[in-house]
Amino acid sequence: MDMETRAAFPGLLEEMTVEEVREFRPEVVVIPLGSTEPHGPVLPYGTDAWQVTRLARLAVERANARGARALLYPTLPITNNVNFRRFPFALRIGVRTLMNLVLDLVLQCKEDGIQKVVLVNGHGGNGGALEAVLREIAGKDDMPFVCLASPKPPADFKSPIAHPSDHGGESETSRMLWIRPDLVREDKLGDFPRGKLKVEALKHAHFVRPWHLHVPESAGGETRESSAEKGKTVIETSAAALADLLVGLSDAHMD
Ligand SMILES: [Zn+2]
Repeated sequence: MDMETRAAFPGLLEEMTVEEVREFRPEVVVIPLGSTEPHGPVLPYGTDAWQVTRLARLAVERANARGARALLYPTLPITNNVNFRRFPFALRIGVRTLMNLVLDLVLQCKEDGIQKVVLVNGHGGNGGALEAVLREIAGKDDMPFVCLASPKPPADFKSPIAHPSDHGGESETSRMLWIRPDLVREDKLGDFPRGKLKVEALKHAHFVRPWHLHVPESAGGETRESSAEKGKTVIETSAAALADLLVGLSDAHMD
């Protein structure tokens, strides 16, 4: 994707003028949520934001090429990161602040006549707060329909990732090798340790993991088999699924 080209495709709010936005008549608003946090010795702090931005851009481009009218907001780069405090500069806002931020954006969408909003979450720490936002809005008169899409491929997708990890592993490294290879410190690739549960049965319970114990180097898992090709496959598969959602929502009549 050529980021230097003006108005590469319709629907990128940051690159449009007010006349173009009026003419575009958006049906669906897409709000990507990233994060700025440590990602181990190999990946940059902006990894989550880069990934979700690329995913959302691809999806909106594909959907709008198929006749959808999805308007992409700029990615929110600072979100919830309460379990990363022991590492430097894990940028964070609180759960309630994040909820209010998203609620305010949904309200703004409503004021602009939008009835459908898609939150695209690119950061694990946001899930609970975003689901709570959906619960907060559900059933309220006049509020837009809001759904939460996570940048994960469909369940039947055979992932090329040989070593899954929930943070800074082969998948994220592969995606960044495709998106911003210049930011990947390939000389530092390795197998990064992951902590073990003291109480084994906790694997059946939900709790907020202290990440300095779970991923002591701020990334976990084997990363040496990462490749740009794998990253491209994972992101493009997720983008195709997200594009389908946007086309469906854009066409849907709200009643
Ligand atoms: Zn990440």
